[in-house]
Amino acid sequence: MEIGFIGLGNMGAPMARNLVAAGHAVTGFDLAEIAIEGVARATSAAGATAGCDVVVTMLPDGVVLRAVYAEIVPIARPGALFIDCSTVDVESARAVAALAASDGLEALDAPVSGGSGGAAAGTLTFMVGGPEPAFARGLPLFEVMGSRAVHCGDSGAGQTAKICNNMIVGATMIAVCEGFSLAEKLGLDPNKLYDVVSTSSGSCWAVTTYCPLPGVGPVSPADNDYRPGFAAELMLKDMRLSQRAAIAVDASTPLAAHATGFYEALVEAGGGGRDFSAVYPGIASRGRD
Ligand code: NAD
Repeated sequence: MEIGFIGLGNMGAPMARNLVAAGHAVTGFDLAEIAIEGVARATSAAGATAGCDVVVTMLPDGVVLRAVYAEIVPIARPGALFIDCSTVDVESARAVAALAASDGLEALDAPVSGGSGGAAAGTLTFMVGGPEPAFARGLPLFEVMGSRAVHCGDSGAGQTAKICNNMIVGATMIAVCEGFSLAEKLGLDPNKLYDVVSTSSGSCWAVTTYCPLPGVGPVSPADNDYRPGFAAELMLKDMRLSQRAAIAVDASTPLAAHATGFYEALVEAGGGGRDFSAVYPGIASRGRD
């Protein structure tokens, strides 16, 4: 297939490489003029769209996504499929899909989980919103760039699944930090708490695969001086997206609202590039407020 790829950053570059490795002809564009072996370089988003069967975007946010779609939708080949893999707000996902549909083009929101490691290994999970036939058209590419693709529903359903999942992780991470901090202050060996919680009702991903304390549980960013992993600034972005969505539909999310403040504090203290589990040392060192 002729594939256009717009946004060749930490995630986009390895995803584009995997498409090339699978035998696709990829033309890429990034404002930062990023060159990738095997990817033809376009000088504009339109240049990476014209004549392509599929256009994949991997961009920072909804504002950039809307601007790029305004440029590329009018010049796309008839019948082209748009796949946006960025994490953006649900309204932007729906707006760009509607823009594409108004020109008779199919579009999918297909945010990912798995991070840059998953992008390089081709093991991302795609959460996809949009028409079923469009999902079926995109599936062979999801299978190249990832190991799992879930069709979640209509346009915006992929972004909805993504931010709800990350809201859950963001909030449970804070709960796990508080549990381990309290245990330490009560004199309990954190490894003993891990042994109990990991097979008890408090068990969750933040404990069993991502424990925020060094030397506890399987190797995690905490064992690597909190190098990401999943950076705190990306977690903050997703928590804020969840809160914006909650306001838009009048959903009650007080726990997540409070959890968002922990990531805000970490980022404001200069820790945005650290793993999001780096909230632990701050929580553990605090007394009762
Ligand atoms: P990044 O900042 O490394 O890459 C974004 C790229 O987009 C940059 O290279 C930038 O130059 C380019 N860009 C910005 N505006 C552009 C425009 N108008 N035209 C063309 N290129 C433009 O970010 P990333 O880590 O690759 O993340 C991309 C998206 O994936 C984000 O929405 C992020 O939330 C999401 N995401 C990231 C991760 C992760 O672990 N990094 C995991 C899951 C989802």
